[in-house]
Amino acid sequence: MSSNSYVTSKLREFGTTIFAEMSALAVETGAVNLGQGFPDYDGPHEVLDSAVDAIRSGQNQYPPGPGMPVLREAVAEHQARFWGLSYDPDTEVLITAGATEALAACLLGLLETGDEVVLLEPMYDSYQACIAMAGGVARPVTLRPPDYGFDTDELRAAITDRTRILLVNSPHNPTGKVLDDEQLRTLAELAIERDLIVVSDEVYEHLTYDGVQHRSIATLPGMRERTLVISSGGKTFNTTGWKVGWICAPAPLVSAARSAKQFLTYVSSGPFQPAIAVGLRLPDSYFTDLASDLQSKRDQLMSGLRTAGFEVFPPQGTYFVTVDIRAIDPEGDGYAFCRALPKRCGVVAVPNVVFYDREHRHEGQHLVRFAFCKRMTSIDEAVERLSGLRTRGGS
Ligand code: PMP
Ligand code: GLN
Repeated sequence: MSSNSYVTSKLREFGTTIFAEMSALAVETGAVNLGQGFPDYDGPHEVLDSAVDAIRSGQNQYPPGPGMPVLREAVAEHQARFWGLSYDPDTEVLITAGATEALAACLLGLLETGDEVVLLEPMYDSYQACIAMAGGVARPVTLRPPDYGFDTDELRAAITDRTRILLVNSPHNPTGKVLDDEQLRTLAELAIERDLIVVSDEVYEHLTYDGVQHRSIATLPGMRERTLVISSGGKTFNTTGWKVGWICAPAPLVSAARSAKQFLTYVSSGPFQPAIAVGLRLPDSYFTDLASDLQSKRDQLMSGLRTAGFEVFPPQGTYFVTVDIRAIDPEGDGYAFCRALPKRCGVVAVPNVVFYDREHRHEGQHLVRFAFCKRMTSIDEAVERLSGLRTRGGS
């Protein structure tokens, strides 16, 4: 909670993002940072080289408002190649400053004051803040461990006459849940029945494990025309600092998002746009190797967390694994646990409680998220440090 009275009341309750707080703590204490979800290794050389070439060849000025044609074409090709979705690169694709701006542009461009957004909780922290900035109201539906399914009756009850948007995120941060066909069908049926626009955050689309496949909700019958699909290059190419994202949707929906986006950043990431286009056109083996490498990292971290004494909820996708801390800390205060962890054993994690609505905090109080998008040596070091937690106690 922010005590700064200059901050607009719309944003006061959101304070400082947990990622800034925990990454600063990692730097300050020299802890292994398994908090913020960014890889501590680089992406494919073809992609990095392409950005260097773009900078050296003078592509350093404002790109076109909708994004560079080469990237819009690569995004459209990627959607067709991986998910069988066809978009016109000129009218149905918009390049944004990461998925974060894509989400903000959709919410600011589509919501009227008082409109409601139904979304799955726990939720990525920018969702609620952007809904608030857009004058909307968040209506979270809670996903609960161990399998993180949703209750269809709860979902149905959350939808009212004021609901305008259903905001879906799969693979889901922080739980690692990948919605299956039946769950997607339930969401789609409700969206059609209640005439909702769907915003689908698919930034972890290529990061799924154990043979689980991502499916975009836009592929279900009747859904392409009402869905804005959002993704970005950060996770897929280990370039989270480049902030190249996109929206794919029918032209009128893209146009609504563009109305807001043009007054946010207007454009961004000039030389990184052609580089992400190169990445999106890499062979299939790149994408499968990326997932299998992350799966090994996930397995290594999960096994270390279990040995350390946590109850672990295996994720089907994303960068993250969630644990219940109560076997180690009976009080189960995840925030206090994460604040103390760097000093206690030199590891940073993120308390899941920050991903819950204020009224539902009890649901995530005892849950903590660890990121495994880190070098195996970083994971091994973290596991080693965590292994003495139970014996070292709470000091
Ligand atoms: N959505 C989810 C679910 C995320 O985890 C993140 C974090 N990267 C984003 C959106 C933001 O993506 P970007 O870095 O491309 O802005
Ligand atoms: N998406 C990343 C995470 O959940 C971090 C994004 C950010 O720093 N805002 O850790």
